[in-house]
Amino acid sequence: QRSDARDYVRSLVRTVPDWPEPGVQFRDITPVLKSARGLRTLVDIFVDRYFDARLDYVAGLDARGFLIGPIVAYELNVGFVPIRKAGKLPWKTVHESYDLEYGSATVEIHADACDAGDRIVLIDDLIATGGTMLAGKALLERLGAKVIEAAALIDLPDLGGAQRLRASGLPVFTICEFE
Ligand code: AMP
Repeated sequence: QRSDARDYVRSLVRTVPDWPEPGVQFRDITPVLKSARGLRTLVDIFVDRYFDARLDYVAGLDARGFLIGPIVAYELNVGFVPIRKAGKLPWKTVHESYDLEYGSATVEIHADACDAGDRIVLIDDLIATGGTMLAGKALLERLGAKVIEAAALIDLPDLGGAQRLRASGLPVFTICEFE
């Protein structure tokens, strides 16, 4: 039943070739969110996974982690913590930069977003190189939190991100894979 649910979610992901640039196969989750059954199935998979995890927060990565994370947090009856791209958060922040294929990116979290010892799951739509999740993990750990797992709808195993995250000591849970 769990694998039917995963296959169903996967079947709703739309692949857009050559977007935002030539050679990229963009995996678009908006059809999953648009479908009432798709959205419920997606959220239920994550809620089942973390129901007994004694989480303190769900943290979501800017921007598509914000579409999934708060719903999961609501269902688990915990709060939601946004990890944002640089320059968007109004109060005191902690930031972390990481390398992209071309250039670099910076993510930020409010300095009071969580407390030492909090148990947190990190959520995003997709894991490619794993750089975004690793930066999120670094921020949460700098605040003293314990990152229990990195969760995403999609893994791109050819890019090695999930492997990289596991090698750093962070367990990974994804619903489906694309080449
Ligand atoms: P990475 O940091 O390399 O693991 O990249 C993951 C982040 O980039 C996620 O926030 C994704 O939303 C986005 N991303 C990377 N590659 C793709 C792709 N092929 N389709 C959709 N989103 C992607």
